[in-house]
Amino acid sequence: MNPQEIQQKDKHINAFIAVDTEGKGEPTGEGKLSGRTIAIKSNINVEGLLTCCASKTLENYVAPYDAHVIERIRKEGGRIVGMANMDEFACGASGETSAYGPTQNPAAPGRIPGGSSSGSTAAVAAGMADLALGSDTGGSIRNPASHCGVVGFKPTYGVVSRYGLVDMAMSLDQIGPLAHTVEDAALLLSVVAGHDNRDETSLKLDKSFYQFHDKLNPDLSCLKIGYAKEFDGLIADEGIREVINSAVERMQDAGAELVKVDLPNLTKALPTYYLNVYVEFFSATRKFDGRRYGHKIEDVCGEEVLRRILLGSYISSKEYAGRYYRKALKARSLIRKEILAALSGVDVLVGPTVPKLPHKLSEPITDPRVMYAYDVFTVPVNLAGLPAGVVPAGKVGGVPTGLQVIGKPLADQTVLDVMLGFQKISRNI
Ligand code: GLN
Repeated sequence: MNPQEIQQKDKHINAFIAVDTEGKGEPTGEGKLSGRTIAIKSNINVEGLLTCCASKTLENYVAPYDAHVIERIRKEGGRIVGMANMDEFACGASGETSAYGPTQNPAAPGRIPGGSSSGSTAAVAAGMADLALGSDTGGSIRNPASHCGVVGFKPTYGVVSRYGLVDMAMSLDQIGPLAHTVEDAALLLSVVAGHDNRDETSLKLDKSFYQFHDKLNPDLSCLKIGYAKEFDGLIADEGIREVINSAVERMQDAGAELVKVDLPNLTKALPTYYLNVYVEFFSATRKFDGRRYGHKIEDVCGEEVLRRILLGSYISSKEYAGRYYRKALKARSLIRKEILAALSGVDVLVGPTVPKLPHKLSEPITDPRVMYAYDVFTVPVNLAGLPAGVVPAGKVGGVPTGLQVIGKPLADQTVLDVMLGFQKISRNI
């Protein structure tokens, strides 16, 4: 699609905050992404384009430089078509907290697309971009991928440089790809992953580690897949349970061995995640004081962002530090240990991505705890820094839902391989 066609189609979807009509997203070379169009979540700096994080705070912030991932995309011939809508500063699970209005789910009209990478995912699902980049702090790539019926992948923490990504919660944030197929997601990941000394948490791994696309292997036989008993009790929709059960059965039919594992503290992951996020997000937003960029955040932001700033400030204050935050850090290491133990006897964990179907845009959720409940299966992965991906598994009353595949640290290739194997046995669903 050319920019005018994208703008026309986007009138109904609102996946973009800015469509590039002036050639600012042009490639600088030719390579693996030549001929491909890419939508970028608007919290990733693209020189010359509006990187406003869907917030009034940064409403006039045209990025003066390219993020590491954008430099790589341009060098490999990728064409950036625009800046995608998102939950404000990536705080949300539905796409509704954007200051630019909510995005439609192209795969389930009238419903939320999920979030916070709502626009990136919808752009791919609606065919307005071949590929997209999102960021995932607690599920923001995987949750919308599940709701919109596309593939999404969150790499091991440190595999993709965060240089040029506007922080939400630094110790949890990772950039990752969205695409129609596992092959395409692996291709984009191969381009954007790699060491970068401008991000101190960027890992330096052997060159061959990053050749995800070339090494893809869909063989599911001889594979041990773990399923946590605790997943069942938390799935809130019978239809999702059926889709996930049948997905696991199909994998067994293809030769995988199912192993039941335990995650006894799974329900602690949500409060642990949110405590960590409040504190880190509060600290990340202190630079938006209205002096250097745009407006003072507290003066113009939406309700959810303000809630996080206020709670983060309260929790960070001296007398409460030992009471909440330190406890949250302890709980985080407990959850990490537990999930690593569950992974130790298997190749990957498989399970649901979201506990419930995306709600209708006409019936917004007002209780934040009900909204946070979408994240129950995705946040443990970020707390532990693991790789995880989502691949379409089936539909419930016409609404897509995805299978989540979780791997050991640095087993990004294994996760992508299992996703591809699953995609191959699920083509006609
Ligand atoms: N829904 C989660 C939150 O609101 C995850 C957001 C994200 O991954 N950026 O914090």
